[in-house]
Amino acid sequence: MKKITLFFMTVLLMACGVEKETTPKIENFNYTVDKFADIEILRYRVPDFEKLSLKQKELIYYLNQAALEGRDILFDQNNKYNLLVRRTLEAVYVNYTGDRESADFKRMTTYLKQVWMGNGIHHHYSEDKFVPEFSEKFLAQAIRSVEPHCNVCLLPGEKIDDLIAKLEPIIFDPTVFPKGTNQEDGVDLIKTSGVNFYEGVTEKEVEDFYAKMKNPNDSTPISFGLNSKLVKENGLLVEKTYKVGGLYGEAIIKIVGWLRKAAEVAENNTQKDVINTLISHYETGSLKTYDEYSIKWVQDLASDIDFVNGFTETYGDPLGMKGSWESLVNFKNIEATKRTEIISSNAQWFEDNSPIDPTFKKEKVKGVSAKVITATILAGDCYPSTPIGINLPNSNWIRHEYGSKSVTIENITEAYDQASLGNGFAEEFMWSEVERERAKKFASMTNNLHTDLHECLGHGSGKLLPGVDPDALKAYGSTIEEARADLFGLYYMGDPKIIELGLLPDKEAYKAEYYQYIMNGLMTQMTRVQPGKNIEEAHMRNRQLIAAWAFEKGKADNVIEIKVRDGETFVVVNDYEKLRTLFGQLLAIIQQIKSTGNFEAGKNIVETYGVKVNKSLHAEVLERYKKLNLAPYRGFVNPVYSLITDKHGKVTDVSISYDENYIDQNLRYSKEYSSLPTFN
Ligand code: ZN
Repeated sequence: MKKITLFFMTVLLMACGVEKETTPKIENFNYTVDKFADIEILRYRVPDFEKLSLKQKELIYYLNQAALEGRDILFDQNNKYNLLVRRTLEAVYVNYTGDRESADFKRMTTYLKQVWMGNGIHHHYSEDKFVPEFSEKFLAQAIRSVEPHCNVCLLPGEKIDDLIAKLEPIIFDPTVFPKGTNQEDGVDLIKTSGVNFYEGVTEKEVEDFYAKMKNPNDSTPISFGLNSKLVKENGLLVEKTYKVGGLYGEAIIKIVGWLRKAAEVAENNTQKDVINTLISHYETGSLKTYDEYSIKWVQDLASDIDFVNGFTETYGDPLGMKGSWESLVNFKNIEATKRTEIISSNAQWFEDNSPIDPTFKKEKVKGVSAKVITATILAGDCYPSTPIGINLPNSNWIRHEYGSKSVTIENITEAYDQASLGNGFAEEFMWSEVERERAKKFASMTNNLHTDLHECLGHGSGKLLPGVDPDALKAYGSTIEEARADLFGLYYMGDPKIIELGLLPDKEAYKAEYYQYIMNGLMTQMTRVQPGKNIEEAHMRNRQLIAAWAFEKGKADNVIEIKVRDGETFVVVNDYEKLRTLFGQLLAIIQQIKSTGNFEAGKNIVETYGVKVNKSLHAEVLERYKKLNLAPYRGFVNPVYSLITDKHGKVTDVSISYDENYIDQNLRYSKEYSSLPTFN
C-alpha cells in the first residue's frame, strides 16, 4: 500500500493499525466548513507557516500554484464528460435568477458539491455514480435560462438543446457510466469503467499492447502507460501522452510555468535539480525521465520543503497502470520529526528490553525514521479527500535500490481530531468524565506516539527462526503481524522510558491510549461491520484479538469490566498496570507464533478472539452510532495564499488565510485554474 487513506469514520482515525481520537481543543479555529450528502468538509491549519523564511514561503507559493493548475486534468481523467457536467452546473449555480430557495435548486447545489468532492460524477470512495435528486425538467429550464453562460460547453455547431440532450443521460441515467473504476471480477473492466484512460479498446487489447512493450529481462523497467491515454485510431492503438504539446498540454504548460518559478527559489541545488527534472518529464512525456526524477526526489532528504506533483497513483485505473494526477506540497514538521528520530535512535534499547523470548530478538535493529510533515496544499487526487500519509515512489525497482519516503501529515490528522471534538461520540461511548477528560488531554499525543512506535519499531522488531517460511501463517499472517506491531507500541506506551525520553509529558497519559484501544477493540470498531457479518479486515481482527484476549485473561483480577448503565453497554478499565502486563504477555505469545511460523497456533488465536462479533452488542453499538448522525466521509478546503509585493513588484511576504468556504473555493478554482477545453 503506497497511500495511507482515511476514508471512513469520523472519530476513529485509522493509520496503519492505529486509531485516533480526541485532543485539546484549539480555540478560535473553525474546523467544520460544510456538510452535505454523506460528506463533511473540514479546513486544516498550517502551523508555523509564518516561521518559514521568505524564500521558503515563496517556494511553497509557486509549488501550490503548480498544484492547483492540475485540477481539470483529474476531472477529465475520471470521465470524459466531467468537465462538461461541472462547467454547466457551475454556470447555472452562478447565474440562475429563478428561485434559488426551491427544492430543485438546492438539490442541484448538493449534487454540484458532490461532483466537486468526487472530481466528477462518481463517488470518490464507492466509485458509484451520484444519484441526482433534482428533476431533468428543472435542469433543462435552468440551463436554458442561463444560455449565454453555457457557450464554453458547446462544441462547434451545437445548440443549447444539444447540450441538454447530451447531459441528461450522463447525469440522470443510472445505466450510463454506473461506475467510475470497476473492479468486479469476470467483466471487461475497461468497458464497464467510466474512467477516461482508454477509449475504443478492450481489456484484452490493452493487455496485449503493454505486454509487447515489456522486456522480462529489464531490471529497471519504466512505468508503462503511466502518463497516457490509450485509444484506437483508424484501427490502430495509439498512446496519447500527457505532456506539453500533448494531451492536457494546456494545463501542463501552466504547471511547468509555476515549477520554473519554484526552481528559481529552490532551497538548494539538489532540490532545483529535482524540480528541473520534473519539468523535463512534463515537456517530453518521457517515463525514463520520470524515473530519473523519482530517484532524485527520493534522495532529497535535506530540503525542508517537499512536494508531490504528477501522474502518480494508479488506483483509478482498473488495470492499475494509468496515473491519476495529484499534488501535495508540504514542509517538514521539525518538532514532530524529532519524535520519530528519538524513537529510531533508541531502537536497540526497545528491542533489548522487549518482553519476548530472547531467542526471537534481533541482535541489531534499525528503526525506520519517518518524516512528519505539514501540508500546505492538497490538489488533484489529494483534494478534497486526502491521505493522512504517503509512501512514494511507486516504482518497485526504485524503491528497492533507492528506498522510499514515508511521511505522515500531522496537520491533517489534527483537523480530523479537532473536528471530532464535541460530535457526541465520546459522550455516547466512554464510561465517564474521567476517561473523556484524559482523552481530551492526551489522546491526540498518545495516538501519534502509538502510530510512531507501531511503524518505526513494531514492524521491524523480532526475527524469524532460521528456516521459517515468512508466509507460514498464510491468511492469518497480516493479523498476527499487525497485532505484534500494535502490542509493541502498547506495551512501551506505559514504560517509564517514554517519559524519560520526553515522548510523553505525563505518566498518566498512556491510559488514554489504553482505554481507547480496549473500548474500540471490544465495542466501537463494530460500527464499521455490517449487521450479521463477522470481522474480516486484518487491522480490525488484530484490535479485537488484543482487546478480547486481555479482557478474558484479566477476568480473575477484574482488569477490564463490561458495565451496563440504563440498558447501554460500556467498557471500564480498572487496572491499567495489570493491563500493561497482559499486553506484554500477549506480545510474547504473538512473537513466538510469528518467529516459529506456527500456523495452527496463529489460526487458533485469531479465530478464537479476533473474528466473531457478539451479535446483540453489535446491534446495540450500530443503533447508538446511528443516532449520532455522523458523516462517514470527509474532505477539505485549502487555505488561501497571496503574494504580497512592494511598489516595485518585489515579493515581501506570502499571506495565508483560512476563511474561504467550500463553494467559493471550488468556484474560484474553476475560474482561476481551468485551462483545459471541455473535451480533450
Ligand atoms: Zn501496521
